[in-house]
Amino acid sequence: MKNSNCPVCATGNLVEHNELDAINYKNQSLSVEIEYSVCTECGEEMIVPDQIKRNDCRIRDAWRKADGMLTGIEIQALRKQLNLTQKEAANLFGGGTNAFSKYERGEVIQSESMDKLMRLALEKQPIVVLDWLSTHYGIQTGRTGQYGNIIKFKSKKVDSEFEMIDFNDVRYG
Ligand SMILES: [Zn+2]
Repeated sequence: MKNSNCPVCATGNLVEHNELDAINYKNQSLSVEIEYSVCTECGEEMIVPDQIKRNDCRIRDAWRKADGMLTGIEIQALRKQLNLTQKEAANLFGGGTNAFSKYERGEVIQSESMDKLMRLALEKQPIVVLDWLSTHYGIQTGRTGQYGNIIKFKSKKVDSEFEMIDFNDVRYG
């Protein structure tokens, strides 16, 4: 059969599925939505490389939430409230050129000090903190003086009741 993308039987096609998986983390059980694929012919369940990458990002977000750290979407919201591009945020706060795209996608978890600095910049007079950073480190953002109308960031508390699903027989492809 043409267009088969099943690496096991080489005849079927892979269909994507999502399930909530219970992940153990520091003696807690975290619910994470996990993507996987099922073959239409042989019924084999597998997690393909792209799915592994996306699943890993979701798992890192769950860890961050459990640790009281900003999640990817929260970092993005905070950065936008500070009116900074990813590059400008990395220049001001540090972490390397692609730091913010990695934090926001969940590829990398920010350090605790980075987490605190970001919250500080937003919650305590952003104009003072950002101006201090840009003046002190000689960084031009072209946005000086635009921080006055920033709305305070409040981390949303999501109350979620997830079902625990046994996900043990899914293999990594
Ligand atoms: Zn198959």
